[in-house]
Amino acid sequence: MSAILELRGLEVEIEGLPILRGVDLEVRPGEILGVVGETGAGKSMTARAILDLLPAAATVSFEECTFGGTDFIPPRARQLARGHQIGFVPQRPRGSLNPVFRVGKQIVDTLRRLRGMARTQAREEALNLLRSVRITDPERVYRSYPHELSGGMCQRVCIAIALAGEPELIIADEPTTGLDVTIQAEILKLLGEVIAEHNAAGMLITHDLGVVADVCDRVAVMYAGRVINLGTTVEIYREALHPYANQLVSIAGSLDSGGTPQEIPGRVPNPGDELVACAFAPRCFRAEDDCYGEEPPLVHIGGQMAFCHHPLTSEAVSV
Ligand code: SF4
Repeated sequence: MSAILELRGLEVEIEGLPILRGVDLEVRPGEILGVVGETGAGKSMTARAILDLLPAAATVSFEECTFGGTDFIPPRARQLARGHQIGFVPQRPRGSLNPVFRVGKQIVDTLRRLRGMARTQAREEALNLLRSVRITDPERVYRSYPHELSGGMCQRVCIAIALAGEPELIIADEPTTGLDVTIQAEILKLLGEVIAEHNAAGMLITHDLGVVADVCDRVAVMYAGRVINLGTTVEIYREALHPYANQLVSIAGSLDSGGTPQEIPGRVPNPGDELVACAFAPRCFRAEDDCYGEEPPLVHIGGQMAFCHHPLTSEAVSV
């Protein structure tokens, strides 16, 4: 099945410092791809590069970038897709809504801008969108200001706004950050449901591998500005090839079972740090001399791919 979004060799530099170092990934029709990694891995930068939302100081280049088969490299193409073909669900929903306008007006304005609706028609559609994100009293929420709503309710409104342009892809950037733990699961479940109901695809960006298990079909694990392991959610959970992904799975598992929160020793490299051949080597329990001196090869097994000299299986074959 051909991908709806495909990008190869995405590089981003900000003021000369490399942030993304050749990101390759694709989102297929109807799937939700989880993009996972610690803070600083480059997940949000990847989303912002796709939407041309990076600061002016950023230099962006792609080897290849297509959306629905059309060239997506020109910044104008990515700007025009925002809201239309690609809906965006932000971190910190309250801060992304305009505090001085009622929620209803913000949805109506979005519908008029994206779909050219008359005001009366847009009002009806705004209420439908609020119902579609499981808001049981849409009239009240429509009349509310953001500060009158809970964080979870604000995120439902942001999801409704992301759906307003009838997008083919929804990118959600850490959509549960700052929300109460009990609300986080509801928001993730809602995202999965509305993406399916609207026949869209999704890209869910999160630092928490635990949250992707119930929602995502495939997972891309990022480290130091690259995708270093990619596979189906089941494969990554059962037998991640890459030691970094494997440790993230262990940490997520220990948290799920109520264990003490653990961390991978060491820290994520900062932009501009001098990197050895495998950027994860200083933190890796399987590192050997070749990891410091030679670029890790791309290995495949089943539906999984990883960049690693010593993947966690004997069946992996280098390509
Ligand atoms: S290449 Fe070496 S250091 Fe890097 S993840 Fe694989 S085993 Fe660890």
